[in-house]
Amino acid sequence: MLTGDRPTGPLHIGHYVGSLRRRVELQNAGTFDRIFIFEADAQALTDNVDNPDKVRQNVIEVALDYLSVGLDPDKSTLFIQSQIPELCELSFYFMNMVTVSRLQRNPTVKTEIQMRGFSGESIPVGFFTYPISQAADITLFKATTVPVGEDQEPMLEQCREIVRRFNNIYGPTLVEPDILLPDNAACLRLPGTDGKAKMSKSLGNCIYLKDSADEVEKKVKSMFTDPDHLRINDPGKVEGNTVFTYLDAFCRPEHFPRYLPDYPNLDELKAHYRRGGLGDMKVKKFLAAVLQETLEPIRIRRAELEKDIPAVIEILRRGTEVAREAGAQTMSEVRRAMRIDYFEDQTFTAEQAAKFQQ
Ligand code: ATP
Ligand code: MG
Repeated sequence: MLTGDRPTGPLHIGHYVGSLRRRVELQNAGTFDRIFIFEADAQALTDNVDNPDKVRQNVIEVALDYLSVGLDPDKSTLFIQSQIPELCELSFYFMNMVTVSRLQRNPTVKTEIQMRGFSGESIPVGFFTYPISQAADITLFKATTVPVGEDQEPMLEQCREIVRRFNNIYGPTLVEPDILLPDNAACLRLPGTDGKAKMSKSLGNCIYLKDSADEVEKKVKSMFTDPDHLRINDPGKVEGNTVFTYLDAFCRPEHFPRYLPDYPNLDELKAHYRRGGLGDMKVKKFLAAVLQETLEPIRIRRAELEKDIPAVIEILRRGTEVAREAGAQTMSEVRRAMRIDYFEDQTFTAEQAAKFQQ
């Protein structure tokens, strides 16, 4: 299993429900032989070229988030993308297998180009081609399973195409990965607190895992609900109402007796909101309590980890070493398949010498 995140900011609750929670479950279930989790700092630089310090600072923030949600360096290899030169090498060869028009069709890249305000052909080549380097990230470690949010679906499809093309031309070498999406619809693409796009570090509409209890409460209070639900007695809409979407993502049956005993379950709460007579504040208070229950233990572990940053850096260094070994192994198979293993292949020297002596 492999997956990663861009160190462009601390991680948020969208990451948690979209991918982090699943990773920790899979890690602890022991389903996979090997688990690779990486910080995509080189990818982050594709659209933060003039902000290297932002990426550098967030490498530590994201590592703290990883460890505080329960990723365990004894069970999962945590590493930093830019420190694996084999990734550049593999991406370079993958570039030959993808056309410009295929990249232009990628819907996630299209949205992200708009979001970042790149216009026409002013988009940096590195950013435009990041789906290719992402295919290298996945295949260098022969990942079979990639747990990610819905925005990553086009990237995985692109990666599978590259693998098929590569294996067709050079013989079976690389592994076609499967995407593993969250099974709860609300978690596929958690919206931001503004109710608009997906929650994203780049949009400033996030509840961060590291936010204090007060910050979480404040953010929940000012969240987007149903704009037509003006008076308590008005009937309200639950669909597209971000507060209810977050409840779909986080709320479990046992939360009701603990924090909202007037209601037996989420369906009943929604039904009351739809009928009218249930105020936004009451639902928001409940949501804040549910979020606190999930975030509090994460926050406590983070505070502990923050006391020993050198140990955190050492975890990344050791993980990166392990990842490099695995990557070097695949890369030597790739070079052999691509017929560019001149110095490793003893028969090459003999063959060529014989050829020129005839
Ligand atoms: P950036 O704005 O820098 O792109 P981001 O917030 O989109 O940051 P990424 O690092 O791009 O975060 O995404 C890391 C992982 O988290 C991916 O698997 C992605 O699908 C998932 N993810 C990110 N945001 C959400 C979200 N709002 N809901 C569900 N999953 C998400
Ligand atoms: Mg993103």
